[in-house]
Amino acid sequence: MSSRRIFLHQASLSALAMTIPSLPNFAEAMSSRNDQEGVLRVAIMGLGSYGTRVAQAMESSKRAKVVGVISGTPSKVENWKKKYGIPDKNCYNYENFDAIKDNPDIDAVYVITPNALHKEQSIRVAKAGKHVICEKPMAINAAEAKEMVTACEEAGVKLLIGYRLHFEANTLKVVNMRKAGDFGDIKFFQGLSGFMIGDPTQWRLDPALSGGGAMMDIGIYSINGARYMVGEEPIWVTAQEVKTDPVKFKEGIDETITFQLGFPSGVVASCLSTYSQNNLDKFFLNGTKGFAEMQPSTGYGPIKGRTHQGALDEPHIMHQTVQMDQMAGIILDGAEPPIPVDGREGLKDMVIIDAIFEAVKTGGKVAISV
Ligand code: NDP
Repeated sequence: MSSRRIFLHQASLSALAMTIPSLPNFAEAMSSRNDQEGVLRVAIMGLGSYGTRVAQAMESSKRAKVVGVISGTPSKVENWKKKYGIPDKNCYNYENFDAIKDNPDIDAVYVITPNALHKEQSIRVAKAGKHVICEKPMAINAAEAKEMVTACEEAGVKLLIGYRLHFEANTLKVVNMRKAGDFGDIKFFQGLSGFMIGDPTQWRLDPALSGGGAMMDIGIYSINGARYMVGEEPIWVTAQEVKTDPVKFKEGIDETITFQLGFPSGVVASCLSTYSQNNLDKFFLNGTKGFAEMQPSTGYGPIKGRTHQGALDEPHIMHQTVQMDQMAGIILDGAEPPIPVDGREGLKDMVIIDAIFEAVKTGGKVAISV
């Protein structure tokens, strides 16, 4: 086990006071503000690239604040403590974070670690009695996702998946137009999701940590998008894999997969998931009365596009800020999101990913029941 993994949080509050005497203690302020102002107090697990973005976005959130961290890297913890005024008592590592159950100043943990760690970490958070927000993909297969859903239900905590586009204004405009019948009968969806992945040593290319390649990481956007754009759940899938670099994209890491989803009404979705092409972030929805196209459709934004009625020009707000404001409402007030973001929603995507991998293996049409 590396030294980063055996870090123990020990520094005292007096040491914190000496290093950052003038910084307001956000976490403690939040513990008294929560009841009065409905602020969700969040600990981030995994202080990597996306965890950093989420924390930055929460600086502008009115309803969610970073008050704690769970990390294997002591130097990052020190930086985050200073940046967000986090007290030592709200800092944990991967060995000791079960003790978060005794910490009344943390409401939820946002799991932002490599995919294959999500299940075990989320279940431990649930057993500690804290709400779980978990990044996509919520797990590495449907069986794991089901275990997470069950564990959170048994613990009586919420399980939310980081589907930030479910709160994005242009996406919601298209979904609302579809619900209002503006596109007529939906006939076809196309989803293109991909980028050229770099460093061959990163966890995303290690099956033990990623659980798969482009499909888990980026293809999932086309799967999830097909479902919210079409407004139905798929009943079958066919899929084809292409691998041009079997060294970089080893066994268990898909490089490029094309797949087709069939929906009960007869709508067909045609999608591409890849780690070896850039400029692929596009949705196209076609109906008997009109169309919507979005490009970029799932990146950090601004999301751009048009429909047969004109430009999609809803104002851009940092996705993760909106997401965390809305998730605070879901957790603290029982609010209903415009498109579900709960564990059962994440499970549906995992069922479809399992079916896509099976279709690649068998070459046949695989039935899906989500
Ligand atoms: P990073 O590699 O940048 O960060 C992952 C962090 O997880 C690390 O920095 C580390 O933090 C922690 N970690 C714990 N165990 C390990 C381990 N064995 N190996 C590597 N890191 C470990 O990844 P990302 O932040 O890009 O991705 C994390 C998750 O977020 C993934 O599930 C990904 O799919 C998702 N994601 C979602 C996005 C979205 O738009 N919704 C966008 C990007 C990612 P520490 O040092 O603090 O322990």
